[in-house]
Amino acid sequence: MTDPVSLARRDLRRFVPYEAASPDREAVRLHANESAWRHDWDDSEAGLNRYPDPRPAAVLARLAALYDVPAEELLLTRGSDDAIDVLVRTMCEAGRDRVVVCPPTFGMYAVAARLQGAEVDEVPLDGDSDFALDTDAVIAAVTDADRPAKLVFLCSPNNPTGNVISGNDVRALCRSMADRGLVVVDEAYGEYATGQTLATLRRECPNLVLLRTLSKAYALAGARLGVLIGDPGLVRLLRAVLPPYPVPSPSLDAAQRLLLPGPVARARAEVAATIQRRERLRNELAGSPAVVRVWPSAGNFLLIRCRDAAAVIDACARAKLLIRDFSRAPGLENCVRITVGDDAQNERLLAAIAESVPEASHG
Ligand code: PMP
Repeated sequence: MTDPVSLARRDLRRFVPYEAASPDREAVRLHANESAWRHDWDDSEAGLNRYPDPRPAAVLARLAALYDVPAEELLLTRGSDDAIDVLVRTMCEAGRDRVVVCPPTFGMYAVAARLQGAEVDEVPLDGDSDFALDTDAVIAAVTDADRPAKLVFLCSPNNPTGNVISGNDVRALCRSMADRGLVVVDEAYGEYATGQTLATLRRECPNLVLLRTLSKAYALAGARLGVLIGDPGLVRLLRAVLPPYPVPSPSLDAAQRLLLPGPVARARAEVAATIQRRERLRNELAGSPAVVRVWPSAGNFLLIRCRDAAAVIDACARAKLLIRDFSRAPGLENCVRITVGDDAQNERLLAAIAESVPEASHG
């Protein structure tokens, strides 16, 4: 199999990064042009006057344990958005390379590609079979063109459709991409799915990259923390492309506080409760006259087709509830995505949706 680093942008393969100042806290720090004093209100351990550690070993070790992968395969990023961006910037030459996406899916893959000047090829999920991946069509798209497809972005469970992609499909894609580019599987919602994550498949497929985030199941969206799991050489190159001090120290502190047995156990219990609420909400929505269809979901959200999405969104807005409109996305006419809330929020949502139905249709 081709070394994934050799698939990166030609001009970056031997890239020499900016050298960050040593994170040593024991020595007197006169090497980084920081301020020597800290604010009275600065109660952080390291001091906000100091640059953060670019390689925070303790956080990385705990994340490696959390995801059960070697620390050298792990890149800490400012959320998965940052990981998506650095992947596209590192792999794709503007005006030359392509990225394949499978809509309806998370919009940032195509946005990051366009920002980098990479061409975006779409291979839609199959709307007639619960948005299954059309693996043969994806393989044809990545292998069949003059321009190299450097990245395929898959999302499992997929936002907004909620379905998972099978390990066999991912393996087949990785093989067909082996000497061309990377297969990226975004597992932002992996904790809400009951099956295995694809971490074990990484050992077979050096060109497989997985994205995880602390924004969803671990309730730290505000800290902007994500993890990319990939080939160690590739991880080193991606780290060189990120800015020298990528993750702010308050976010590293938040990660330290999360990655202890108590908070992790709490997050896992909340995930289990969310899954139960998701299934209850799914049943209740399926019985609503305002709803035509509710798709099964392995995420912390549900995709529903409404009789009239605009009426549902309006009724929710009147009840000060935000839901996500997907009705203009191809194949998702009258569809909205609803994040599973707590019990009170879900009750309020169901009441608002009931309000959206004209009196006559209550039967
Ligand atoms: N991937 C998917 C599939 C998402 O839905 C989201 C956010 N909604 C992200 C990545 C971005 O996550 P983060 O907060 O880690 O940047």
